[in-house]
Amino acid sequence: MELAARKERMLSQHLMARGIVDPAVLRAMAEVPREAFLPPGMEYLAYEDGPLPIQDGQTISQPYIVAYMIEALKLQGGEKVLEIGTGSGYAAAVLSLCAGEVFTVERIPSLAHLAGQRLRELGYGNVTVHLGDGTLGWREHAPYDAIVVTAGAPDVPKELEEQLAPGGRLVIPVGPTQHLQDLVRVHRDRSGGLHQETLCAVRFVPLIGAQGWDD
Ligand code: SAM
Repeated sequence: MELAARKERMLSQHLMARGIVDPAVLRAMAEVPREAFLPPGMEYLAYEDGPLPIQDGQTISQPYIVAYMIEALKLQGGEKVLEIGTGSGYAAAVLSLCAGEVFTVERIPSLAHLAGQRLRELGYGNVTVHLGDGTLGWREHAPYDAIVVTAGAPDVPKELEEQLAPGGRLVIPVGPTQHLQDLVRVHRDRSGGLHQETLCAVRFVPLIGAQGWDD
């Protein structure tokens, strides 16, 4: 099957049939070439229904999970978004088409470098990649209208809650072990109060850092 046909199958069977409805998210998933974010030789797997290994023992998330998490942020377009866990840069590219500006933080230097270069070459000019411990957010650009964390944390990092703007949403996998989590959404209301809800069970690589798991 050609990549274009595989992408069509991803959109209809893996995303829409499972309840992804946000038109901006579906448009972005249709537009971003996931094959460009994979290690060489794996391009043909780009639109399969699962996560895939990338460099440094990390993963690029399943397309459905990427779409689900971005839809859960309830973006209208124009927002300032913080992503923790740049990985390949794929989710940052999808986010960049749904929001105004994307700041993304990765702790592994080679991944941050590769993702930054790739995003620049592909023309995602509203994404900025930062090397650092994302459990501490990125204070310089805070507050954020939305924050998405693409690695599993033992608890919601306090620092990320503090960097969430009034009216903003934070989506993060949280769980008692390093590989099994619930996806949690935290909403900061207009008067500053925080409200937490559980969305679904997920499985992510661990979030390692000062307010995450130990290395
Ligand atoms: N969003 C990525 C993509 O589209 O390819 C997938 C991310 S992968 C599931 C999780 C990433 O989180 C890994 O690249 C890992 O190195 C990174 N990570 C783990 N702990 C981190 C931390 N404290 N700060 C920043 N990145 C972290």
